[in-house]
Parts: sequence; structure tokens; C-alpha cells
Amino acid sequence: MKINNIPEEFIQAIPILEKIEDNNYEAYFVGGSVRDTILNLPIHDVDIASSAYPEEIKAIFNKTVDTGIQHGTVMVLDHGSGYEITTFRTESGYQDYRRPDHVEFVRSLKDDIKRRDFTINALAMDKNGEIIDFYEGIDDLKNQLIKAVGDANQRFNEDALRMMRAIRFSSKLDFSIESKTFAAINEHSELLQKIAVERINVEFIKMMLGLKPSKGILNLIDSNLIKFTPFFNSYINKLKKLSSEKIDDNIIQSEIQVWSLLSYYLNLDNKEEHKMLKSYKCSNKMINDVVLSTNVVRKIILNSLSNQDVYNAGLDLTLQANQITKIFNENLSENYIKTLYDDLQIKQKSDLKIDGKDLIYLGIHPGPKIGSLISDIELKVINNELTNTFDDLINYVKNNFV
Ligand code: ATP
Ligand code: MG
Repeated sequence: MKINNIPEEFIQAIPILEKIEDNNYEAYFVGGSVRDTILNLPIHDVDIASSAYPEEIKAIFNKTVDTGIQHGTVMVLDHGSGYEITTFRTESGYQDYRRPDHVEFVRSLKDDIKRRDFTINALAMDKNGEIIDFYEGIDDLKNQLIKAVGDANQRFNEDALRMMRAIRFSSKLDFSIESKTFAAINEHSELLQKIAVERINVEFIKMMLGLKPSKGILNLIDSNLIKFTPFFNSYINKLKKLSSEKIDDNIIQSEIQVWSLLSYYLNLDNKEEHKMLKSYKCSNKMINDVVLSTNVVRKIILNSLSNQDVYNAGLDLTLQANQITKIFNENLSENYIKTLYDDLQIKQKSDLKIDGKDLIYLGIHPGPKIGSLISDIELKVINNELTNTFDDLINYVKNNFV
């Protein structure tokens, strides 16, 4: 197979391949970018694999950075944006079901391709667009199948994260998981417990942001992997139901939206919501955003979105929450939300025309009273019960508290 319209991202990198070849080494495009090109999907990172060892790559190019030299990866900066070049390698060991104990650099592309996870990810492309396909990856792309390279049982035993990757690609591409590969996931599902939560998180979120998260969720359940993911084990029925909602075709657009949808749909209280997010090691910023956004989701669906909800969440999170309510045909128009936000007299506390010092000047005793009074004024301004002018706010305090 030959690619005729080589995407621009590759064209830019061809001089790098040529330079490596001029030095009598081999170099190919590999991995997801080749797969996505054949599928006519947009590509993001262009990965290059080469028979040259890292030191040899560094000798060929002027500007390089050791981004992952112990795994054989060097970043070349000579041609505009950086390109990662990884030496062909084999892996062995895998004592911890995740990282290989030994990485060995090799000179043959075929040996490098053998360590890759799925046939559709085991394709290489040379500088002329010729596809090199040792494992019938092109056929599997045509048949829309995710199939392990080699013996699936062995491959998941080596690296249990691959099971989550299979599920992720089933959603991202709307592909089926080949039957032996699926059976092997089922067989080895408990090995997922050996994988760092952060890695499971990344794959889970990519799955939810794929084309068919409904398929991903069902695969997660049917393969039994769900039992070994953090938190979800007690929510299998609800997750199954969620898979029948209108969640496909990129309606979910960000990680915040993924978590808010789950929190809303699984009907989590505040404590459970925190538990879920903590169990996936989400950052505190993510947790804060999700809590605010989930509140907005609930309020929109209950038809009780208030100025205060919009103020607390801010415009971006309110719009993100609104996106999720589309799944249930409960969304508001974006213009309506923007107007709600624009019409807020203040967007943050510091926009108030008076502050603590003004209150002390009026004779209020310094202390906690000041803070609660400011919060009271803030709320009244948000609800348009007070006008945010110095005179109005001062009069309010004078008339009620002095
Ligand atoms: P994406 O579109 O998410 O970037 P990708 O296929 O490029 O998808 P990466 O995680 O970027 O996935 O990995 C690049 C390539 O490295 C894969 O296509 C695959 O060939 C190989 N690979 C990545 N992770 C593994 C793994 N755990 N086991 C075996 N091969 C892997
Ligand atoms: Mg990639």
C-alpha cells in the first residue's frame, strides 16, 4: 500500500528521514500517525523510528535534546518543530506488568514492530509513503478490528495497560476488539490492578472522549475490566444505562465534562464525587472545576440555574456543563448563558465597589464579621438586590449594621 497524499505533518519531517538514510541508517514513520493517515483522520504527533542508536542520531543532527534517552528517544530540533526519534528496540522482562526490565536497541524494524500493542498500531511508513505491514494491520484497519500483535494473552501479561488501550481504541475509532484479543482481556482483567491509577485515568478519559464512548463503556463492562478500575465497580448497572444515552459522536468534549457527566449520572453526593475524583488522582484544580460544573449540570436540568451558580462556576465551566446537558436534551442556548454571565454586576469579589477597609472605616469591628458582611453584600449584588456602586453599598451597611 502506498499513501499518495502524504499529510503535511509528514512532509515537514521527510528531510529528517533523508538525513538519517544519508548516514546509512533506516528511518520510518511509525505508530498512531500512520494508522490515522490510512484512516483519513487528523494526525497529532509524528513519531519516527530508526535503526540508528541515540548517540548516532545525536552525531547526525545539530540540535538534539535527550527526552527519553534510556528508552532510545532523542528529540531533533534541526527542522522547525521538534521530532522524537526512537531507536528500534525490543523489550523483555515486564516483572511489574507494566515496564519492561530490559530495553535492547536493535537494527531491524521488524523486531521493533513486534513489541507494539495492536496490529493497527504496528504499521510503518517510509519517506515515499510506502506502508510496511508485518502483521496484517491494513486488513485489520479495513475490518475495523483491534487485534493484539502476536499472542494476546502474553501481550497483556507483559503490559496490562494494553487492555485499557484496546478499550480506548474501540471507542476512539469505533472498532471492535477481535475475539481472541477480547477473550484475553477477560482472562487477564485482574492484572489491571497492577497499573498506576494515573495511567488508567489517561486511557479512561481518552476512551470517554473518543467517537463511541458507549462502546468503550460496554467493552469495559463486558470484558470485566470495570471490576478492577477504581470506583466504578459499584456502579456497573448505572454505567450500562449511561451507555444507552446519547453520549456518542463527540458530544463530550473535555475531561471536566467526562467527570461531571459521571458525577451527575451516577447521582453522586459531594462526598462520593470527591471519592471518585480522588480515586483517579485528579488534581485539586480538576476537582474544584468538576464540582462547580456538576452543580451547573444539575441546576440546568432542574431548570433552576441561578445567577449565583453562574457566578461561582464562571462562564467557561457553565458552558461546559451546558454541553453535558445536551445529552439529555435539557441544554440552554449558549447566548442565553453568555447574557446571564455578561449581566452579572460583578464577576469576582474584588469587583465589589467596597471592601473590608471601607467597613472598618464605617465603624464595623475588624474580625470575622467583616468577611461575612462582604459575602452577604456579594450575594445581594449577584442577585441584583443591591447595585454595585460605592454609595449604594455604603448606605446598605449604614442602614443595617451601624
Ligand atoms: P494516540 O493517537 O493517542 O497518540 P498512538 O497509537 O500514537 O495513539 P501512543 O501512546 O502515542 O499511541 O503510542 C505510540 C505507539 O507506540 C503506538 O501506536 C504503539 O505502536 C506503541 N505503543 C504505545 N504504548 C504501547 C504499549 N503499552 N505496548 C506496546 N506498544 C505501545
Ligand atoms: Mg501518539
